[in-house]
Amino acid sequence: MFTCENCGGALRFDIASGKLICDSCLSTYAVGSVKDAQAAEESEEMDAKVFRCPQCGGEIMTIDEAAAAFCSYCGSSNVLESRMTGVKKPKYIIPFKKTKEDCKELYLSKVKKNIFAPKELRNPAYLDRFRGIYTPYWIYGIDIDADASFEGEESHRRGDYIIEDTYMMTCHVDANYDGISYDSSSSFDDEICQEIAPYPDNEFREFDSGYISGFYADVADVDGAVYMKDAADLTVDSVMTSVRSEFTGIDSMNTPSGGYGPKLNPSCNYPESAMFPVWFLSYRNKDRVAYGVVNGLTGKLSIDMPISVLKYLLFSILLAVPMFFVLNLGLVLTPSAGVIATVIMAIIGVITFFVNLGSIKKQETKELDKGYTSIYGKPGKTSHKGYFIGAILPIIAIVVALAIWFISPVSDIYYYAASLFVIVATGLMLIELIKQYNILSTRPLPQFNKDRGEVDA
Ligand SMILES: [Zn+2]
Ligand SMILES: [Zn+2]
Repeated sequence: MFTCENCGGALRFDIASGKLICDSCLSTYAVGSVKDAQAAEESEEMDAKVFRCPQCGGEIMTIDEAAAAFCSYCGSSNVLESRMTGVKKPKYIIPFKKTKEDCKELYLSKVKKNIFAPKELRNPAYLDRFRGIYTPYWIYGIDIDADASFEGEESHRRGDYIIEDTYMMTCHVDANYDGISYDSSSSFDDEICQEIAPYPDNEFREFDSGYISGFYADVADVDGAVYMKDAADLTVDSVMTSVRSEFTGIDSMNTPSGGYGPKLNPSCNYPESAMFPVWFLSYRNKDRVAYGVVNGLTGKLSIDMPISVLKYLLFSILLAVPMFFVLNLGLVLTPSAGVIATVIMAIIGVITFFVNLGSIKKQETKELDKGYTSIYGKPGKTSHKGYFIGAILPIIAIVVALAIWFISPVSDIYYYAASLFVIVATGLMLIELIKQYNILSTRPLPQFNKDRGEVDA
């Protein structure tokens, strides 16, 4: 904790001025000019108070006397458990540039554009829960210094012949990529991290705990080795793009067996640690949570936008009136063509249902989140209800309708009954699709995944 030399009050980092400020006497100090009284000189660690959420297990820390009244990861207002501990200082930091007010404005302008968003998302009291959190990252540097040769092909026509030539191209690649970053907290979703990227490395400063005074920080718990290969692959891809552009006059380059990686042999040292600024907000609805996350440097947003079912139903009723007329016109079609039209509609619905189910599974099991799976293990299974309404009933309706179409009975009444059955089943399926959308636009409470991870471990 930093104290004011003038009055002894607590200092905090002020985003607007970029300085430490004392709220009691308004004195300001440049970061680095005030020394933390209790901290040992040149220590690798800083004293921190770590808060743990009893509900989801999420952890945030502060170096101040501050308390934490709620959990940013699950939105719970339970009393957080706290403990004092030493936390390793990162090497670099990017201080906050966007203030809480900037952040609320950016967030609101986005939410207002979505007419289905629940009205709670605009509540000023809710927006005030935006919390500045420094999120830990690993910073990778990749070097490539290699003599490499690639095979390429070129074909041209001469008279009646097409001549194909194979070339061997050699080059020396000397590349050096710095500042490739991946978040090192398992609580922070990799996907959100990508959406609010980048954090350019020309904004890096040497870490000073003054920057995090008055803010919270997330605790790093993912090993630096986890993203080494990703950083190397990213560099190889980027290098090969420039290599290809050098070899003009050939049609295609043959991908070597085993990929370009072994040819270029990228080397990666153990990454440096850093903290990047993030504004974090969570919206809790029963056992789901939606996040609003803003890059504290650039203001880039990532918002989970659930749909208010009430708003959606009102809108659907408005839409149902013109739909009714369209469907009535549809009956001008021959009855058997009407059956086929409704069946096609239902098939599209069923396919959408299964595609969504696949995306939900990916999101729920966090199978793409390397930082998460490195700690909690392979993703578990998720079970989803809604199969009957979303798939089985419409499939039965489709089969029945096609059977009737195939038998081609004399009386039209069978065709109308079949069409009606398919339309009703499709209507019910639409409600299931909205539910799926809301699952996709929100997240499970972190706790569910963590518990499962511990069981698997
Ligand atoms: Zn003061
Ligand atoms: Zn929590």
